[in-house]
Amino acid sequence: MPTVTTDHRIRLASVVIGPKERRLVGDVLDSGMLAQGPMVARLEAHLAEACGTTHAVAVSNGTTALQAALAVSDVGPGDEVVVPALTFGATLNAVIAAGATARIADVTTDYTVDPASVESLLTDRTRAIVPVHLYGLPADMPAISSITRRHGSVIIEDNAQAIGARVAGRATGSWGLGCLSLYATKNVAAGEGGAVTTSDPATADRLRVLRNQGMATRYEYVSPGLNWRMTDLHAAVGIGQIERLAAVTEARRANAAFLDDVVSGLDWLRRPPSPADRSHVHHQYVVAVRAGVDRSRLIAHLDASGIDAAPVYPRAVHDYPCFRDHPLVADDRTPLADRLAAAVVSLPVHQGLTAEDLDRMGCALAGFRP
Ligand SMILES: *Cc1c(COP(=O)(O)O)cnc(C)c1O
Repeated sequence: MPTVTTDHRIRLASVVIGPKERRLVGDVLDSGMLAQGPMVARLEAHLAEACGTTHAVAVSNGTTALQAALAVSDVGPGDEVVVPALTFGATLNAVIAAGATARIADVTTDYTVDPASVESLLTDRTRAIVPVHLYGLPADMPAISSITRRHGSVIIEDNAQAIGARVAGRATGSWGLGCLSLYATKNVAAGEGGAVTTSDPATADRLRVLRNQGMATRYEYVSPGLNWRMTDLHAAVGIGQIERLAAVTEARRANAAFLDDVVSGLDWLRRPPSPADRSHVHHQYVVAVRAGVDRSRLIAHLDASGIDAAPVYPRAVHDYPCFRDHPLVADDRTPLADRLAAAVVSLPVHQGLTAEDLDRMGCALAGFRP
């Protein structure tokens, strides 16, 4: 049985490590070969299967996955890349690191990128759109695909939070180049790790070269590159994790359904949206307080009941001086994202929650006087 790491507090994330991870990490240690090797190849096969692609190229983390996807798409200085206003900093940082200009699209009430806003930002310099499957909910990929097909730009999916999700019958990570993260708190965790998913063999080959100093074989450099490799130790943890992905997703969905019932009875709180034809894998369970409700009082109230809760994300990604004043970040307005960022609260939904944890959360929410 997997061991569950818990304490009295109900945390926003928990790592559940099973015997398989321990055995495979032991195998790597016994082999004496710690760097990229057979475990990475095994993990890649699992990741490709989860994303419905023929290839997954493992890299060192989700940020380098985004950098590799931008590099293999030849995105560079002078190009524009559209990213949503609600996301983790990595999405924006990868664009800046590529030397491209970031355009910031607004989101819809489902928290994912607004296709109409994307459309309004397109120029003849737009090379890529980076939809983020935020909190585990796929973005509106049919709408975004039709925009990029007409415009001639590429899709780079930020799939860090949504491994295993589906939209319009297709897995996230299969609509364009997909970027996964296996960071310690993600639905499949390896500590650190990432991958780019694709069904184009030539793109996969180029990614394998880029992650390994631009070498096709040892000391045969065919392009500039960097070291973006994953280790077999991390891959060993990831394999054990991904073999339980179906159970993890099921547990998160059951926890989310319980919380949906609780939140539906509270007129001062809005539950996470569930648009038709998009399956949610609930990396985060994010509610929004209605206008006039003090979010920080709610968080303090939950904290007093031993429940961690936090704004995710507290501000639009570009709403910080380091980005607002950055020459590669456009000064785009995102009014809905700004409003949502002021209202959102992430609650624990992870697979380590017990029935008692859920009851405690239900009671605490019902006991709040807004
Ligand atoms: C975690 C995350 C990343 C970055 O992944 P790392 O593995 O931490 O580099 C990128 N985008 C989003 C939306 C994420 O949640």
